[in-house]
Amino acid sequence: MTSPISLHDTGELLLPSPLQPFHPDWPGADKLNLFIKRDDLIHPVISGNKWRKLKYTFNALPAGCERIISFGGGFSNHLHACGFLCALSGLPFTAIVRGDYSTSLTPMLEDLYRWQADIRFVDKKTYKLRDDPDWLSALSQRYPGSVIIPEGGSQHLALKGVAEIVEECDVEFDHVIVPVGSGATLAGLITALKKPQSATGIAVLKGEAYLESLVENLLPPDTVMPAWQIHHQYHCGGYGKAPEELKAFCNDMQRSYNIPVEPVYSGKMFAAVKDMIANGQFSSGSAVLLVHTGGLQGAR
Ligand SMILES: *Cc1c(COP(=O)(O)O)cnc(C)c1O
Repeated sequence: MTSPISLHDTGELLLPSPLQPFHPDWPGADKLNLFIKRDDLIHPVISGNKWRKLKYTFNALPAGCERIISFGGGFSNHLHACGFLCALSGLPFTAIVRGDYSTSLTPMLEDLYRWQADIRFVDKKTYKLRDDPDWLSALSQRYPGSVIIPEGGSQHLALKGVAEIVEECDVEFDHVIVPVGSGATLAGLITALKKPQSATGIAVLKGEAYLESLVENLLPPDTVMPAWQIHHQYHCGGYGKAPEELKAFCNDMQRSYNIPVEPVYSGKMFAAVKDMIANGQFSSGSAVLLVHTGGLQGAR
């Protein structure tokens, strides 16, 4: 039997994560109350929102769980977090990776090998089967006693962990902003808001309509949700794309405000917020919560 991961009890996780007022020198920002929820500070390895999303899955593994299996790309923060948590809890981990990186390991994959993960490189066509019930049941048969976590940790249990971001906040806010990859973090925040609060996701990849449907599919059915939306004009060319302007913006976040951000997720979110403020998208006097989801290990 596996024991729950007691990172929290050993003081290794910084929770609740710090909530800090943010006063950038951006046009229009002086009329708003901005706060940053520093989930990037939760843990140096487990990227901010990945702990939120995995917490309840790892703490409620069925007795007799012998292995965790999950999916991601070669640079996946999610696989990295899963591999780390498996190593801590002494559980074998199988990472199913989209594309063959065997001759060009990324820093994340190198870590996974160090943590004794079993890495399977699959082609794009096979990877597409990751949610196919027949393929998944064949996978379970091949690895008896395994728990399969979907790509990005995107499952209903993830929402409960993410909702704690809002529960930890002791300030009133009107809007919450977060980057969107698989959509589970945005979905979890939506479930925790009370009308008239609203949520805005910043898409880091090109995927109009598709991202909205990922979020909708995760939300509990038949409940009245607060207003939410995804902005699609801030992905800077797509996932992992980092034009010079964005890199300069990330450097400036560090230099001027002492907030480390990376160009894949958090940099795009902060740059979007700067633009939204300049365009008058928040009414004067509103309080806006910016969720810093971490990802700094991924900037290597
Ligand atoms: C994975 C990740 C996200 C995206 O979260 P989703 O729940 O997949 O939308 C955002 N920020 C960082 C730093 C991440 O690693």
